[in-house]
Amino acid sequence: MANLDYAYRRLLNTLGPERVARSEFERMVYSHDFASVPKIALLQWRLYPDFVALPKTSEEVSALVKLSDESLLPITPRGGGTGWYGGSVPNRGGVLFDMRRMNRVVGLDPDGRTVTAEAGVTWKELEDHVESKGFALRTVPLNAIGSTVGGAINSASVGFGGLRGGSLRDSVANLEVILPDGSLLKTAAAADAGGQLADLTPLFLGAEGTLGIITKAVLRLVPKPEVTKPVTYGFAEPAAAARYLKGIVDAGLAPYHAALIDRDHFVFERALRPDSPDPVDLALVAVQGSKDEVSDQEKTLDALAKEYSGTKLPPTVGEGLWRERYNNYSARRLSRGLTISYNLVPLRRLPEAVETALRLRDKLKLNGSVQAHLVDTTTAALQPYVLMDDTKPSGGTALGFVKRMGDAAFKLGGHSMGLGLFLVFNLRKMHGNATGAYSAVKGVFDPRKKINGGKTFEVWTKYPWPGIRAIPPPGMAIGLEVAALLRRAKPTRDRFVRTYEASKGG
Ligand SMILES: Cc1cc2nc3c(=O)[nH]c(=O)nc-3n(C[C@H](O)[C@H](O)[C@H](O)COP(=O)(O)OP(=O)(O)OC[C@H]3O[C@@H](n4cnc5c(N)ncnc54)[C@H](O)[C@@H]3O)c2cc1C
Repeated sequence: MANLDYAYRRLLNTLGPERVARSEFERMVYSHDFASVPKIALLQWRLYPDFVALPKTSEEVSALVKLSDESLLPITPRGGGTGWYGGSVPNRGGVLFDMRRMNRVVGLDPDGRTVTAEAGVTWKELEDHVESKGFALRTVPLNAIGSTVGGAINSASVGFGGLRGGSLRDSVANLEVILPDGSLLKTAAAADAGGQLADLTPLFLGAEGTLGIITKAVLRLVPKPEVTKPVTYGFAEPAAAARYLKGIVDAGLAPYHAALIDRDHFVFERALRPDSPDPVDLALVAVQGSKDEVSDQEKTLDALAKEYSGTKLPPTVGEGLWRERYNNYSARRLSRGLTISYNLVPLRRLPEAVETALRLRDKLKLNGSVQAHLVDTTTAALQPYVLMDDTKPSGGTALGFVKRMGDAAFKLGGHSMGLGLFLVFNLRKMHGNATGAYSAVKGVFDPRKKINGGKTFEVWTKYPWPGIRAIPPPGMAIGLEVAALLRRAKPTRDRFVRTYEASKGG
């Protein structure tokens, strides 16, 4: 490996001093993603990059990727860094590419109904841009403020609009990717929605930055709806709200968004902002269309809610939640940290999945909230979050919840989302014997494993020596299971919110 000072000079020559960082503080900022990582993890991984590079063009990305052949420094691509399982965090230091300076909307083609954006544009910026031109995105990740186009594609993110507009996979028409040898690939011809052999686009959906660096994406658009109206209904328990969500699909309705949020979320919100809604288990549904269409849909949803014993809540509740829809995890301010278990489950089993999440949370004596939303007509996303204080020795044990919840999702016929660095053991559960095929594809694109090496398919440690250079994925599963057991043995819940504590009898 080249000496670090030499590698630094080469980076400076390529990008200039303003777009290369190596200070302790900047490296620390990039040493974790949205979820909390206990300090003990530093024993296993070099989570701090050696350098942070901020490219502005595809040519610069290509030049940086080629430099890695000289320096042998590993590359970690990063968008908003809002993932949860270490995908955008280095495992052996190296050069982290922060893609957020590639933040231009390159152009909107109104006839072809597509928009071309650089990888570092956030979904909120892109949504604002296309809406100002009379169009809308077909789907938008829940975290549109922080999440970037390249990051969401690499995470195969799900979110708003999927029930009506299809998945992100259906949205992406073409990608520009810098491959690990520095060459530039366009994944599809201009007119090819069918995914014939000529179309490599799907290969990069959910690839977690292991096959190349996405620099631009062409996304399909729909006309902007005249009206978007959020409505909310209260239910006696979270599972009843889940039954209502399923009822929406069973009734043949296709709102823009339909989600459930349990009352515990509002207990945390109340502790932070006294003007937040009264704690209640609720369903939030957003309908779109012309004024008449929206009014008809609302009436149908009202009637359906009655069938499921739901009570319509005042319009201000839905309006407030809709305004804040991209901002859902302020509860982390109560505890310093928070972790999320993100899973896809069959819609028919959503009520059971919600009950399982509540049971697991209580069994592990955690403070947390259960939330879910419709992804399409057969699938729901279940994303409970739990609070954790990773500055305390017992804080990291909350990660055991992510493991147990993921196991439960598999049992329910679904799977957990995101492998990154911490959940690689789930790959085999998802794909069985085909797991090797994924590693083989990585081998074709990136034989030296220089981009996000030692993640997603295997778990490298910071030590390059045989015997300890990698953790067998089941070893990670055992570690998280031990965390769950320690958590269970803890005599009491953490005391982040007194009223919550009292309501749970802990
Ligand atoms: C509040 C909140 C809500 C969320 N809601 C959802 C949700 O509804 N659905 C969901 O699926 N996820 C959700 N997530 C998880 C995560 O935010 C999303 O998956 C998000 O789309 C990731 O985008 P990002 O730009 O932050 O990617 P990052 O976290 O920066 O990166 C994710 C992965 O992509 C790679 N990567 C990033 N950019 C590139 C690039 N240009 N080229 C190649 N590889 C790249 C990284 O190496 C990493 O492996 C949420 C997270 C938060 C904090």
